[in-house]
This record gives sequence, C-alpha cells and structure tokens, in this order.
Amino acid sequence: MRVTVLGSGTSHGVPAIGCDCAVCTSTDVRDKRTRPSIYIEAPGRSEPTYDPRTATAILVDTSTDLRTQALANDVRRVDAILFTHSHADHVMGLDDVRRYNQMQKRSIPCYADRQTLENLRQMFAYVFNPPKQVGGGLPQLELCEIDGSFSVAAVDIVPVPLWHGQLPVLGFRIGAFAYLTDCNRIPDASWPLLEGTRTLIVDALRQRPHSTHFSVDQAIAVVRRLGAERAYFTHISHDLAHAATNARLPAGMELAYDGLVLEVA
Ligand SMILES: [Zn+2]
Ligand SMILES: [Zn+2]
Ligand SMILES: [Zn+2]
Repeated sequence: MRVTVLGSGTSHGVPAIGCDCAVCTSTDVRDKRTRPSIYIEAPGRSEPTYDPRTATAILVDTSTDLRTQALANDVRRVDAILFTHSHADHVMGLDDVRRYNQMQKRSIPCYADRQTLENLRQMFAYVFNPPKQVGGGLPQLELCEIDGSFSVAAVDIVPVPLWHGQLPVLGFRIGAFAYLTDCNRIPDASWPLLEGTRTLIVDALRQRPHSTHFSVDQAIAVVRRLGAERAYFTHISHDLAHAATNARLPAGMELAYDGLVLEVA
C-alpha cells in the first residue's frame, strides 16, 4: 500500500499569511505545508503489492488545498473519501472533487460519522439542497455514515475514535498503518484498535502543549506506547522547522512533509 502525504500543515498553512518567522520564510521546501490530507493507494486482496492500474484510491479529508495537492501529486483517481471531522481545513476542498466525478463518470462515496455528515450537509447546502440554477456543476457525492469497521473495495478500514479537545473525531487504521490527525487524546477503548500499528502518522502541532492537538512530546509518547516502527508527525505549525526538529527527534520518528510517499506493508 502506498500513502502520500498531500498536506502536513496546520489549519493556517505554512507559511502563514503575513508572517516573517524563520519557518515561514524558510527556503527548505519541506517547510511549505498545505492543509492536512493523505492519499492512500491500496492493492486488491489477491495482489501482494501496489499496482496503480488496479489499486483502490482513497482520499482522507478534502483539504482547503485539495486542488493544489492533486496537481502537485498527480492524483488522478479517487474511489472514496474518508472524513476525520468537519473543521474547515479538512473539508473546504470538497468542491474540487467535481473533476473526479467528471473523469470517473460516477458519484464518490464519502464516509464520516453522523455529526460530520450533518455538518457537511449544512456547510455545503448548495450541494445537498441544490438551487434551481447551478453554474459550474455540483460535486456528486454519496454520504455514508460510519458505524464501525467498513470496507472500500478490498480495503478494510477501522475507524478509531479520538478526542480533538472536546470534539470527537475519527482516526483511521488500515492494516498495520494508522492516520491520527487532529487529536490530543486517545480514549482507552481506542488503544486496542491501534495494537500492531507499525507505521503511524500522528498529530504534533508544535513543541508547546495545545488544548486540541498533541505536542511533539505527547506524540512521541503515543508512538512509544504503540511501539510503531516508523512514525511521522503532521498538522505542523510554523513553530517547527523541518530539519532542526528532525535532528532532535528519536530514531524512527520524523516530521512528515508535503509530497512524502510511504510504502506500507
Ligand atoms: Zn485540522
Ligand atoms: Zn511564521
Ligand atoms: Zn480540527
């Protein structure tokens, strides 16, 4: 299975508008962070390795920067979308999936918990309660409520309930890979769902603690408790310079960056 980090930045993106800090003005391309999203290409059940012609393509969240990310990473297919929650940085690119509707000539199933689906219906009222006259077309979406484990084609997906401050959100586990963005607490009942995770992408906003996101030290503690072999931190603010932060992270842990591709067993 192949996982591409489309966006590794926090909700403001990096650089932040009007900021002259060292990270926002850095020339290291890994310090340019679009809003958070990943793209998963998974092989069918009988295929041991990833083959782009037959893989199932899953987009996790439709970030504000979806169009830019799709162009930068040549994302040509989306078979399904998984939503972690409905904060703007995770949903505002939804309209851009019209291109996939056009190219694939069908609607796209969108998986989310009940509250997120309700919020999407409100935020995108023009899609779900369409006006009489529409210019430019509407995204064709099939809303599917997540209520336990589910499958997209041959890909088995385990939703992992997490706390993002006071807001319940979802992480996702696929095989030995887990994606846990936008969280600052993993409830007791979710740890068993993550047992055996070997490759992990987890929220690490900045060094200082935050009320809704893990800090770097808290993320390190999560990786250690899970015993993941490889871990990548995401939803990164302009407080963390890529190279300098990586230099002091423990072995097997690093900051994700836009365009990072992981081959996951
Ligand atoms: Zn976010
Ligand atoms: Zn800055
Ligand atoms: Zn959020």
